Amino acid sequence: MNSGFRHTKIVFTIGPATSSPEMLELLIGMGANVCRLNMAHASPEWTRTTVAAVREAGRKCGRELAIMMDIKGPEIRTGDVEEPIELKQGEMFDFYVLPDRIREEDKQGVRGVTVNYPGLAADVREGNTLLVDSGLIRMRVHQVRPERIRCEVRIAGKMGSRRHINLPGIKVNLPCLTQKDKADVDVAVELGLEFIALSFVREPDDLDVLRRYLTSKGSEARIIAKIEDQSAITNLDDIITASDGLMVARGDLGIEIPYETLPLVQRRAVKTCLRMGKPVIIATHMLESMITQPMPTRAEISDVSNAVLEQADCVMLSGETTVGKYPLECVDVLNRVITAMEQQTTQPYNTEVRLKTPKALLLRSAALLADEIENAAILAFTRSGYIAQVLSSLRPRRSPIYAFTDVPRVYKQSQILWGVLPFHMEFNDDPEQTIQNAINVLRDNNHVRPGTRLVVISYTIAGDRVVDTIQLRAVE
Ligand code: PEP
Repeated sequence: MNSGFRHTKIVFTIGPATSSPEMLELLIGMGANVCRLNMAHASPEWTRTTVAAVREAGRKCGRELAIMMDIKGPEIRTGDVEEPIELKQGEMFDFYVLPDRIREEDKQGVRGVTVNYPGLAADVREGNTLLVDSGLIRMRVHQVRPERIRCEVRIAGKMGSRRHINLPGIKVNLPCLTQKDKADVDVAVELGLEFIALSFVREPDDLDVLRRYLTSKGSEARIIAKIEDQSAITNLDDIITASDGLMVARGDLGIEIPYETLPLVQRRAVKTCLRMGKPVIIATHMLESMITQPMPTRAEISDVSNAVLEQADCVMLSGETTVGKYPLECVDVLNRVITAMEQQTTQPYNTEVRLKTPKALLLRSAALLADEIENAAILAFTRSGYIAQVLSSLRPRRSPIYAFTDVPRVYKQSQILWGVLPFHMEFNDDPEQTIQNAINVLRDNNHVRPGTRLVVISYTIAGDRVVDTIQLRAVE
């Protein structure tokens, strides 16, 4: 293991606590890799300003982040309330699905709130469970009418505006890509963002819909599937196949499925991604207590360590960096915990990954070679990002993967990959000159020293043919 090199990546969600140029520069300096925009509450203006600020900070720091737009997908939310409603256990409460049809005399003294999904009455039945605000408020459906759903409050709480509604085990017939999502994706395409994360993916078709939409707009953004409910777990393998990466969105997942099953679902999701060679992000509540406290709980330290031991590509911060009081401390904690775990683990390389192409098999030989040599690193050149992704999926523990590309988008998309440190550099027509230029960059930035062994994945011209090569070199 190369000491000081962090293989597991850090995703942070940007918000008021982190959007100033100073904070962004500090976060980039501390090694954050991916910036997530949560579109649940975002406008196009905010998105444009924020993306410009992130990019400017990246330019100043000499290291650009990948930006991931997280679109809200088929999400059901309550409407606005003038003041938070204090619900009492046992009281009846109405959700107005067709508010225009609600007459004052029909309310029968029952309080209520609008919902953003007119089809809700067709999806729920009497006796179903309805959860509000991340499951904090629990209700039982008492009566369903086309215009309203009347529920009995089982676990009371205070309901503010635009609270998220979960319906565990119920297939909601909302489209996978709403009008708001399409408008958000249009902004992502305009800004050339690297990743789109699609919330509440239920089946592979949902991803195909988004992919077709992106392709029709000429976008090469990669798609991250957020698994958040039981249908996603049922269709997990097909969803991973259809996606470019996965996010285990534990916030909603822990409400939609029995929470005691969450650790096993996480483990299965990471293992399946490792087998299929797709990147995976572990999200939500990693350092939740640090929204208000400067120190993590011991349980949070174990949770982060567990994600590292499972070999996830990324761990993600949400509220900790949007509104938390200690965003920099959170990144520091992740850095410390990840590095400590990575230095102590002796896991072998990933033997499970399915490698189909001859090129992928060649890459496995390169990764094995690098892992057998003390003080070695892998140097790769990639235009599509494929080489970086395959090498990363092999999880070579002892050697960093330095991936050079001349495509700015691929450089940023590689930020998400376990163990890959990407560089943007123009390639020379002569492959040998390109290798020398890359070694100079690595040496000038203290990533390698004279004597460092490099397993170089390049190509050579043999007559009129291009032949892939693996070379073992020592830095001079
Ligand atoms: C989650 O539910 O864990 C999650 C990441 O989704 P969001 O924050 O978009 O609700």
